[in-house]
Amino acid sequence: MILPILGEKPEIYEDPLDLMVEIDTLKQEKQAKILAHYYVDGEIQDIADYTGDSLKLARDATTIDAPVIVFCGVHFMGESAKILSPDKTVLMPDLLAGCSLAESCQAPELKALQDKLRAEGRDIVTVAYINTTAAVKSLCDWIVTSGNAREIIDRIPAEREILFVPDQHLGRYLMDVTGRSMILWPGACMVHEIFSLQDLLRAKKNHPESIVIAHPECPHNILEVSDFIGGTEKMRTYVQSLAEPHRFLVATESEMIHPLRKAAPQHEYIPVPGIMENTGETCACNRCPHMARNTLQKVRDCLKYGQPEIVWQPYFDQARDVLQRSLLQ
Ligand code: SF4
Repeated sequence: MILPILGEKPEIYEDPLDLMVEIDTLKQEKQAKILAHYYVDGEIQDIADYTGDSLKLARDATTIDAPVIVFCGVHFMGESAKILSPDKTVLMPDLLAGCSLAESCQAPELKALQDKLRAEGRDIVTVAYINTTAAVKSLCDWIVTSGNAREIIDRIPAEREILFVPDQHLGRYLMDVTGRSMILWPGACMVHEIFSLQDLLRAKKNHPESIVIAHPECPHNILEVSDFIGGTEKMRTYVQSLAEPHRFLVATESEMIHPLRKAAPQHEYIPVPGIMENTGETCACNRCPHMARNTLQKVRDCLKYGQPEIVWQPYFDQARDVLQRSLLQ
């Protein structure tokens, strides 16, 4: 389901099947490949050449043999793809697809905090979650994803202090699993922060045999009652590893259920807030409004007109060093 964006004119309805045919023709003409994050609308994932989390897609972008990439996701992901594949044209269906987490940490504020800590004589290493702007990445020592964070943090000498940005919940989870204390930036994802512990406990009670799978961007109280914690790729691999049918309560962005169903159709997947409404109906409160800006029409239009495009910025050079070191080596 595509949510209307407040303040914007709704798109004029076009048949999705016609749009898919048009997109396919344009893709051949422009020699383009489509990359889609697991949180974009399922019908976009279905026409994509590559789907995945932000790490997998950033890596895929470097190996694709095509001059044009259409990145269906949010802005920081398009930036990472461009930075790691500077010779390719990286288009995005909607450049306004941002991220509340990335926006919670702005480069000037981060620089001010780093300067303050260093002026106090503290020997800090700045570790950034991939959900950050390129300007922020250019100020950091390491970039991590939920998949490689533990390994990178374990490599940092124990005597150095870690400043972790921007997700306080992921940071707290990493403190638990690595045993390292960290200075945490107070950012959070607007989607993962809304899960209610009370509703989740009620759902567990109603479905005592269910397995709770949660993204580490969720608050600590949700992770504490979860059976499996992992990023989107790990969730996918986990459900695939269980051959017998199970019922999963899924605490992440609701569109993630689409790739889970495709990977392991034998299971039942219930979005956590969706079963909490008094009416018993599902709700869309765990849908990311930024990811929802990607639509088939916008994918068609960006292929047709060759824009909007992620344009190289001066700070991309420095962000490239840290991204390559962290994600590709
Ligand atoms: S789900 Fe959260 S972290 Fe992911 S793009 Fe949306 S706002 Fe950002």
